[in-house]
Amino acid sequence: MQALTSKAKPVGRKPMTFWEKLYIPAIAKGMAITFKHIFRKKPTINYPEKTRPFSPVFRGVQVLNRDEEGRERCTACGLCAVACPAEAITMEAAERLPGEENLYREEKYAVKYEINMLRCIFCGLCEEACPKDAVYLSETMVPSNYNRKTFVYSKQELLIPNPLTDPEAFAKAKGARPEKTL
Ligand code: SF4
Ligand code: SF4
Repeated sequence: MQALTSKAKPVGRKPMTFWEKLYIPAIAKGMAITFKHIFRKKPTINYPEKTRPFSPVFRGVQVLNRDEEGRERCTACGLCAVACPAEAITMEAAERLPGEENLYREEKYAVKYEINMLRCIFCGLCEEACPKDAVYLSETMVPSNYNRKTFVYSKQELLIPNPLTDPEAFAKAKGARPEKTL
């Protein structure tokens, strides 16, 4: 049969020598490699008990941001969804009603905002596209799960804690992130 490429190599069918049939040299060689690694520094860590420091440019799960008065910043303009190359963001807009000025910063807000973490490639384009500093990628990794539906994060899961009612949780979610100049 004619070969399609010249990459195929014939397999050696040499009979085993006396030493090869004993297997002892091969076992000794394998044990020497094992012992060599026992005294080396382990490259692995006991995750999740221990974690490695992330790079300063690490991009984790998205957070929907609030302003200093605890109002939701998102105005449901849809720029993040348009910028998203993975089409991971969906939202529905609603008009702010009189008396809701303390809840929503703008006259329009996202009544529904979802990100599918199975689609997201953590490129950060949604954060860059946002004119209101309303969405940013945090330092938290998306936790693993066996259920695919749990990876569609709702607005309530994405929303940062209110700085007025829970300043500690707000500061933790914010991390070392500097304020975005608008
Ligand atoms: S990080 Fe990238 S892929 Fe993920 S939601 Fe934002 S724009 Fe889409
Ligand atoms: S997160 Fe930003 S870009 Fe996305 S809809 Fe809200 S305001 Fe617009």
